[in-house]
This record gives sequence, C-alpha cells and structure tokens, in this order.
Amino acid sequence: MDYKDLANIIFPEAKEISYYEEKYPRRNLPEGAIVTRVAPSPTGFVHVGTLYQALVARKMAEQTQGVFFLRIEDTDQKREIEKGTTDIVNSFNSFGIIPDEGMTSEIEGKGNYGPYKQSQRKEIYQAYAKYLIEQGKAYPCFCATEEVEQIRAKQENAKIRPGYYGVWAKCRNVTVEEAIKKIQNGEKYIIRFKSPGREDRKIKHHDVIKGNVDFPENDQDIVIIKADGLPTYHFAHAVDDHLMGTTHIIRGDEWLSSVPLHLQLFYELGFKAPKYAHIAPIMKNDNGNKRKLSKRKDPEAAVSYYAEEGIPSDAVKEYLLNIANSTFENWRRANPDKSMNEFDLQLNKMSVSGALFDMIKLLDVSKIVISKMTAEEVYEKSLEWAKKYDTDLEELLQDKDYALKVFGIERGNKKPRKDISKWADVKENISYMYDKEFEKNTEEYPFQVINNKEDIEKILKLYVEKYYDENDDKQMWFDKIKELAGEMGYAKEVKEFKANPDMYKAHVGDVSTVLRVALTKRTNTPDMYDIMQVLGKDSVVKRLEMFQ
Ligand code: GLU
Repeated sequence: MDYKDLANIIFPEAKEISYYEEKYPRRNLPEGAIVTRVAPSPTGFVHVGTLYQALVARKMAEQTQGVFFLRIEDTDQKREIEKGTTDIVNSFNSFGIIPDEGMTSEIEGKGNYGPYKQSQRKEIYQAYAKYLIEQGKAYPCFCATEEVEQIRAKQENAKIRPGYYGVWAKCRNVTVEEAIKKIQNGEKYIIRFKSPGREDRKIKHHDVIKGNVDFPENDQDIVIIKADGLPTYHFAHAVDDHLMGTTHIIRGDEWLSSVPLHLQLFYELGFKAPKYAHIAPIMKNDNGNKRKLSKRKDPEAAVSYYAEEGIPSDAVKEYLLNIANSTFENWRRANPDKSMNEFDLQLNKMSVSGALFDMIKLLDVSKIVISKMTAEEVYEKSLEWAKKYDTDLEELLQDKDYALKVFGIERGNKKPRKDISKWADVKENISYMYDKEFEKNTEEYPFQVINNKEDIEKILKLYVEKYYDENDDKQMWFDKIKELAGEMGYAKEVKEFKANPDMYKAHVGDVSTVLRVALTKRTNTPDMYDIMQVLGKDSVVKRLEMFQ
C-alpha cells in the first residue's frame, strides 16, 4: 500500500492533472501582458473595495494587452446568497467594468479557462489534491472539529503558536495503511496539505505594491479540501490562478500574510508562482481616526449606494483612480478633456497604507464629470435615475424638449455649469424653471441689497412695461437693465458706484439681483438671460407680476 493507493481510495474518479494542464494551455499573449482577475465571494454585498480592485485589475490588463477575468469564489457555501453572482456581474456592468472572461450570470460564463465559478470546479481541485496525496504532500486528517479545538486550547494555555503544524499535526503521521483502514471503516476526514516549511526560516517576497517583505516560512498543514468536498480559498486560488494563467494577483492586503503559504502551495504543486500586488483598503476618516470603510457603518461602502444617490458611475471610477494613484490629479489637470481610460495606472505607485475616501472630493469630481456631459446625456441619466428613485422628478422631465433647454443652460461651452453633483440634486436644481413648482414654492423671496418692497415693485413694474423684450439679444438685454438702473437712481456701472458710493442707492448688479430673485426665488442661478429665454415671455411676465 502506498500513497497512490491512498489517493485512489480518496478520489477514485479524479482525472490525471495532465488532462487539465492540456485542456488549459498557456496563454499566447504579447510580452509583458498582465493576466489578472477579481475574485469576489457572492455574499450579496458588493463592497466598493471590490469595485476598486476590479477597476485597477481591468485597467492593468487593458494597458498591457492582457486579460481580465471575473472568478466567483463560492466555496464557503454558508455565506452565499441567492443571486450573489448576478449582483456582482450587474454591479461591474453598471460601472462599465467588463471582464474579458468569467461569469456573466449566475451559472454561465465566457472564456476558455472556465468554469469561472469555484463550485463548478470541484473535480479539478480534487484532481490536484489527489496529485498531492500521491506524492505524500497531502494527507487525510481524521481529527474532529472538537479535537482541533482542543489542540488550539492546549496551545493557548501553553502560550504557543496556534495551529495544526509540526508535532501538533497528529494525522500527518498516520500511516497509509492506517489511513486506508479508517477510510474503509467510514471515518470522516478532510484533506490537509503537508507543509514542508519551517517557522524559523525566512522567505523574502517582493510585492508589486508593498515592496520587499520578509516572512517566516509557512509550516501549517492547512486544510485544502473540506468535509463538503470543496476546497479552501488557499488551495483553490493556487489551482485556479495557475490554470487560468494569472500573471498578477491583485487582491486586498488582508491576504498579504498568506503569501508564504500560497508560494509554498504553488511550489509544491509544481506551478510557476504569479506576482502579487496587495492593495491597501480604502480608508475613512472617522472623527480623526483612520479606519477601513465598513460594511456595517458606512452606506458608501456598498456599491449600490452610488446608483441610489445618483452619482454617475464615471465619477465614481474617476474618483477611485484618484485614490489609486496620487498622480492622477495632476494628469487630469493637464488633460481635462481626455478620457480617464487614457491615464496610465501604475501598480507600484499605489498607496501602501490605504488611501482616504472623501465624499466631498468625490462629489467635486462628480460635478466636473457631469459638467462635461451634453444636455441630452444629463437628461437621459437623470430620467433613468428618476424612474427608479424620484417620481416627481420623472414627471418634471416628461417634456423632453423643455428639459433639454433647461439642462442646456450654460452647458457645452468652455466653462460649463458645475451645479449638479448627483442626479438626486437635479430636482432641487431645476424646479424653479417649472411654473407649477415655482408657484408651489412658498419660501420668502431672498432679496439682497435692494430689499424695500416699494423699490422692488417699481423695478419689476418698469422692467415689464418698458424694458423687457424677449427678442433682445444678450447685449441689448443687459443694456436695458442698465437703463432701468439709471432711471431708478442706481449706478449703471459697478465701477461708477465704487467711485462714488454716496451718490447712489446701489448699482446695476443689485437691480439684476432683484430681477433674478423675483424670477427664481434664488440669489444664485446660472445665466439669467438664458433662464429668461428658456422660461419664455409668458412665464417671465407672470413671475415678475406675481410679486407686485
Ligand atoms: N475571494 C477572495 C476575497 O474575496 C479573493 C481574494 C483574491 O483575489 O485572491 O477576498
């Protein structure tokens, strides 16, 4: 009886690994091409950190003419939820992060290196586990969970390093004969890796992001196949990334400490080890303390939050690039009109300790992104948002021609308006352009310098009766406001007023403000000439007369 017999008894059906090695040939890609992936678990919650990793991975593959794929890691079936894969696929799609290969729905995928869902790869893992057993590099472990817990308790009491290793790894020394007998007697078991490592020896590792790191070797006999026949993350990751031809493993830095184990697995399996790039988590400033964005405490940790708030996906992506490389900001300043896809992302320039997520900054980025959209795009995107989240806004947007005029104000020029940072702002932003909404507004008029009722009434009356003509061009329109100011005893030019403040009650700008407030109930609006053009004569006159 030898290891081969043991392996055959445990996995009688498993194929030779050569079958899989041939089935998934090395990829034929240009020199330097990065093959990478994102490998989330379908837990029903897509974390913005996962999106961030996917964005970085997608870009690195694109920049090097490589491949980016989506693998679903569902070997922990207790944590899985229904439609978890669909959630992930849809989230990435909605951000325009489209994998070249990988799962495309709950059960389907595309690409030649699949299946891309671990639960569909059971027989592949078993083949490689069998291969390790055949070589005496893995073994069945018959320890019950309670036994492993007892070992751990003993170690804790004695204040020694916990785990299943060295002398503590009881089943490591079970002979092949004994093991076979136990299996034939129906004893339950799992499969452990027989680690050749020693804790007192060090390994040197170069991480693409973290730089050089030293670790003690791994000496833990970790579980590779669980009682349910599925692999653990560690083992599955090695087998999958080998067969899928991954060159760079870009993943969260919570896995950095697993590198010694992973390198050992690659080595013992006879695989070429990939490069690792461990991304620091996105952090949040919580009253002066820096901490990870938390699924429990921070709504913005969920990818779904951005769609609900109406923050465009391009703005989120652009902001995540800001977080990824601090050089992005300068690049953007120098290239305001380029697509963010042209930015050359560098893995080795990513923050080692974790960049801060700043909502205010994100909204600033978003304002700029939206300011560059056409009126049509703003219309389509805000309508799409409104259909899901705000029926009042949806109703306002029914008249598309009018809405396009409203969104067209100060847009498409060199200095476009930057007053919308998310679709949830739109209603508040445009409501005054709709008579019904304007009339519903019961707030006081926020008049400024000129605030006595009599003067205001006079300005408005005179303007309607004598000066307003909807056919005036902008110059004429403004000249007339100056005339009106002069007629009412206000300075026609701000300069004049500043030179002789005692001679005037106020100046033409203050008269404009009266018109602006009467027309919109706001002190701050885009260009008033444009607003009046869009409102049209009836509405302008009605509004100006409403105050009188
Ligand atoms: N399923 C692992 C996770 O979600 C994947 C880590 C990796 O990218 O290898 O953290």
